[in-house]
Order: sequence, then C-alpha cells, then structure tokens
Amino acid sequence: MMETTVSIANKRNSLRDLLGGDLVLTEADDIVRYCTDWHGDVTSGAVAVIRPRSTADVQAAIKTCRTLGLSIVPQGGNTGLVLGGTPDEPESQVVLSLERMNRIRKIDSDDFSAVVEAGCILAELKDATADKGMFFPLALGAQGTCRIGGNVSTNAGGINVLRYGMTRELVLGLEVVLPDGNIFDGLSTLRKDNRGIDLKQLFIGAEGTLGIITAVSLKLTPTPDNVATALLALNSLSDAITLYRRARKDCCDLMSAFEFLPPLAFTLAKEAIPDLPIPLSADYPAYVLLEISGSGLVDIDDLMQRFLEGVMESGLVVDGTIASSHSQARNLWLIREGMNEGQAKRGAHMRTDISIPLPQLASFVADAEAAVREALPDCTSVSYGHVGDGNVHLNVLPPSDATPEERHDRIYRAKSVVSTVVDTYHGSISAEHGIGRLKRKDFEDRLSSTKRRLLVAIKRAIDPDLLFNPHCQINLDAAMDEPD
Ligand SMILES: Cc1cc2nc3c(=O)[nH]c(=O)nc-3n(C[C@H](O)[C@H](O)[C@H](O)COP(=O)(O)OP(=O)(O)OC[C@H]3O[C@@H](n4cnc5c(N)ncnc54)[C@H](O)[C@@H]3O)c2cc1C
Repeated sequence: MMETTVSIANKRNSLRDLLGGDLVLTEADDIVRYCTDWHGDVTSGAVAVIRPRSTADVQAAIKTCRTLGLSIVPQGGNTGLVLGGTPDEPESQVVLSLERMNRIRKIDSDDFSAVVEAGCILAELKDATADKGMFFPLALGAQGTCRIGGNVSTNAGGINVLRYGMTRELVLGLEVVLPDGNIFDGLSTLRKDNRGIDLKQLFIGAEGTLGIITAVSLKLTPTPDNVATALLALNSLSDAITLYRRARKDCCDLMSAFEFLPPLAFTLAKEAIPDLPIPLSADYPAYVLLEISGSGLVDIDDLMQRFLEGVMESGLVVDGTIASSHSQARNLWLIREGMNEGQAKRGAHMRTDISIPLPQLASFVADAEAAVREALPDCTSVSYGHVGDGNVHLNVLPPSDATPEERHDRIYRAKSVVSTVVDTYHGSISAEHGIGRLKRKDFEDRLSSTKRRLLVAIKRAIDPDLLFNPHCQINLDAAMDEPD
C-alpha cells in the first residue's frame, strides 16, 4: 500500500515537472469533479487531471503519460451518462480535460461551416453561430455543459436528429492526436471528399478509445427563424407513431422535433420546477411535443395550423396547444427537460437509451412495461423520448421509500427484464449515449465474433499499448494478446 502511495506521489511530481504546474491538477479537492459522473452516482480518483491549452500541450501530455506508464481518459463536459469519461483505475489513469481548448477558430457563413476547438461548449457554439445568422442544429438537454469533442466522441443525438441527423452527419473534419503523438490532420470543410476510406469516421463515436479530438469542423445551416411548437394529447403511443408518420408526410423535412411524453412527465417536471405552467390536463394517455421550423419564405405558423386542423378533425390528436411566444415554447420544452431532473430527484433509478424499429416501438413499450410490472410490481416505468428516431428511454423508478440496497436490487433486475425484451425486438441497448464502462458487459455479451475481431484489430493498429481510455467500450486487456 505504502509503495503504491509513494509511486503515485512520484508520478504526480513527474507530471508537474515535465508538463508544468499550470497544466496539472493533483489535489483531491481539485480533481474530484472530473472523477465523478454527471448523476453523482459514481466517484473514482485519478493520478492527476491534465488540462492542456493547445494541441501541442496534448502531444506533450501523451508523451509524458506514455513515459510514466499512465493511461489517459479524455474528458469534455463530463455529461456522458455511461461512465466513458471518468476513470476506473485511480492509480494508473489521468483525466485529460479539453475544457481549456474552447476557442471558436472560425465561423464562415459563406461556406456554411465552423471550425472549433474540442473543448468549446455546445451552447456557446450555438450562440456564436446564431450571432452570425447561422444555425448549428445539435441540441440536447446537456448543451450548456457538454463540449463539441465529447459530442463527436459519443456521436451525440438529441432532439433534432430526425431532421439533421446525429453528430456524425454534422462533422466535416477532425484534428486528432493519436496515441503515438502524431496528429491526424483532417480539419477540412469540404462537403465532398471521396479520396478513399473516410478515416475521421473512426474517431466519431469511439468514446476516446482511439484518439484525442482537439478540433472539429462542422456543417452549419441557415437559421430557421420561424419556429412553431405544439404540445398535443393523444390516446396512445401507437397513435403518436401514426401522428409522426403523418407529420413526416405533411410537413416534410420541416419537422425538427417530435418528442413523446407520458402523463407522468408533468408530475416529474413540476417536482423539478414547481412554478412551471402545464397547459394541458394530465388525463390523456400520451403526449407529443412537436416542433416545425423553417427559414426564408416558408410560412411555418400556417403549416402548423393546417396540419393540426387535419389531425384533430380525424381524431388522432384529442387536445393540444400551440405556443404563441418564444417564452411559451421554452416552457413547453422545460416540461421535457424538467422530467429528467424530476426523475433524478426521486433517487437512483434504472435508465435506458433504447432504439427499436419504428413499426414495433409501441408494442415494445407495452411488452417491456408489462414485464417490469410483473417482475417489479412496486416500481414505476417511465417511457419517453425522441420516438421519431425509434429512440425511447424506458426508465424504471424504485419506490420512494426503498433503501439503497433495495434500489440497487430493483435497478439490477429491471435492467435484465428490459434488456431481454429489447433483444426479442432486435433493438439497440444504446441508441445515443454510447457504451462507456457502464454498458460494456451488455455490449460485449451481444457482440458478434466478427465485429469483436474488427474492433480489436482497429484498436491494435492505432493504440496497441492501450494508452487511451482502457476498459471503455470493450475490455481489451486480454484481447490484445489473443492471436489474430
Ligand atoms: C441532461 C442530459 C441530457 C442529455 N441528452 C442527450 C441527448 O438527448 N442525446 C445524446 O446523445 N446524449 C445526451 N446526453 C448525454 C451527453 O450529454 C452526450 O453524450 C454528450 O455528447 C457528451 O459530451 P461531453 O462533452 O459531456 O462528453 P464527456 O462526458 O466528457 O465524454 C463522453 C465520452 O467522450 C470521450 N471524449 C470526450 N471528449 C473527447 C475528446 N476531445 N477526444 C476524445 N474523446 C473524448 C470521453 O472519454 C467519453 O468516453 C445527455 C446528458 C444529460 C446530462
């Protein structure tokens, strides 16, 4: 034990000597926030936190960590929900936080593109592009904290995916520092570049296992300055999916968000934001938050009015309200955001991020909720999400008076019950959030031998010494020594 303590102290001294005190944090109070997940459920430790100011600093950090035998866990805003950006071996890992590499290098409205450093906060980029009359469509609840490098590394989704795609579809180029310290310089803004295999794709969604993303070039679009937002009540999730199909046809590509909410969303949102106005009664079985947006000559308000007249006349939508101001629209979105916070306030619970083929989504939710009711009658299921993409969060809340042990037991059992139903429907256990360390076993249990072989081969080719984010996505400690 003594030996380990001394050796950590030595490593800390060496890091400070080689990189300089400005880049390296080692005090427990300073590093705890980088070693704790967003929910505060899991806290670990690290030898140090390194906070580079430039790509050259990142290269120096990699070289130093390699010399000292330390592996590196990259971190952006630390809002990831699967323990990908927090360390799990406090004595041999450092966190490399990109938070000080947060400059916007360029916003080019003529080229519809931006070039930003990886540590730029998503909301700050969105604001800066808006100031230039442009729009960066990635939008998610954590946008005030998450950083572009993290968004790219998780291939983040969010509320606008159905119109603009996941982050992968918004990335034009990347600058990445590799485990050998070399730079992959792919920071182009070309839309079309078919010169062989598109290597940047390897780093998108890799959760920091192959390279440290230091800068990103991104696609922008014109600002959709006409936005119509409506909260609609329906008789079932199945009707919500019918409504989604109809909106796709009637509103074409102008539909920018379609979020499904259960009636419990209102209660949960109020628990988080007590004075939040709720404009509809909670008596209906299902709700949809619909957003249509456009720019230029398109009359969005008229489109929303005509669309809603049609779906209300046919009885598909039974009640609804259209926001008549920006602040009313904001309040509707706060219901969606507040329900997440409300669940967190009810204590540790089972969270999922599932995708299912759209035609089976409603029956999946019915089957999975029934299976949870049968196995865990004292728990409450909450299903909601970006259902237009087939993405649903089917969360399970233990009873409020459950002890920590009882909560742990319910969460463990609920996960197994829901995962079994996901497998029956050939769905994905991670629609948006990635694998990290939290879902590694579930991922590995479902990995085909061919996919595993390819993943191991890619890691071996780029990071044979397992320097970057070990144990994230797959535990490769043993696999690296396996024969090809
Ligand atoms: C309230 C809330 C709502 C959310 N809603 C959504 C949602 O709708 N859709 C969605 O997809 N996600 C959502 N998330 C999850 C999370 O915000 C995203 O995964 C986000 O993209 C993570 O970005 P980050 O900067 O916080 O990354 P981090 O959490 O810091 O890191 C995530 C992963 O990326 C790696 N990484 C980070 N930066 C780099 C880098 N520069 N180079 C290499 N690797 C790096 C880390 O090692 C880690 O594996 C939500 C989270 C919260 C808390």
